[in-house]
Amino acid sequence: MFEYIKDYKLQFSGALTPRRTTKRILLHHTSGGDAETVAGIHAYHLSKGHKGIDYNICVERDGSVAWGRGLTYCGGSVNNSAAGTRCMNDDSVAIAALGDFEHNSMPDIQKEALKRVARDVARYYGLVEVKGHNEVAGRGYTDCPGRYFPLDEVRSYAAGSREEEKTQAAEPGVNVPELKRNLRLASPLMRGGDVQAAQGRLAYHKAQPGSIDGIYGEKTRAAAIRFQKARIAEGYDLGTDGADGVVGPKTWAILWQG
Ligand SMILES: [Zn+2]
Repeated sequence: MFEYIKDYKLQFSGALTPRRTTKRILLHHTSGGDAETVAGIHAYHLSKGHKGIDYNICVERDGSVAWGRGLTYCGGSVNNSAAGTRCMNDDSVAIAALGDFEHNSMPDIQKEALKRVARDVARYYGLVEVKGHNEVAGRGYTDCPGRYFPLDEVRSYAAGSREEEKTQAAEPGVNVPELKRNLRLASPLMRGGDVQAAQGRLAYHKAQPGSIDGIYGEKTRAAAIRFQKARIAEGYDLGTDGADGVVGPKTWAILWQG
């Protein structure tokens, strides 16, 4: 799903903090000129005493998409303590488009790449909330992401229509992230981005997993069983284990369908 994202192998000054919950996408511009690069922004944020680049993902002018901190770590992109935004670094995925969109419009190729990655992140975590930086921090505090930033267009595309998702999911293997382990109720409880993604998809299918917190607890197990029973009733083959409340490869694949 994210194979197209480039990795510049940025070196951070300390261990990054894994994000425990993911509630929204935050959109930024970097407000620099044409010479700006992901490595340059990384160096600048390091020089300010941050662990490195504040954004999880960067979208370059030529339509390339690159990892900043990576998908699963807390960011550092919102710091307006007066508006109480700092905590949003811990539950948001920050995506920055390189450029100054307070003064310039975004090249089409960059806009299409931004829309694609925003939608992939939204689908991966089952998110619906997409905000511009100044929507959470206040317009008096920052111009970011800029008045010419295609905020509403990205937002509606990221939310995606159900019809569009169905068409996409019909192509086998497209946009389905790889399942690296079976997800189940275990002791200690399983945690992680894969659990959160499964919860997001269970919620999307109205199986009521409770909070999408990345922890595989009783509610997640009950939701998985509800989802599996409903699919078995529709004629899906889940193998001999049936509705066991374990998200293995078969259940995972069906979760990502329309
Ligand atoms: Zn910003």
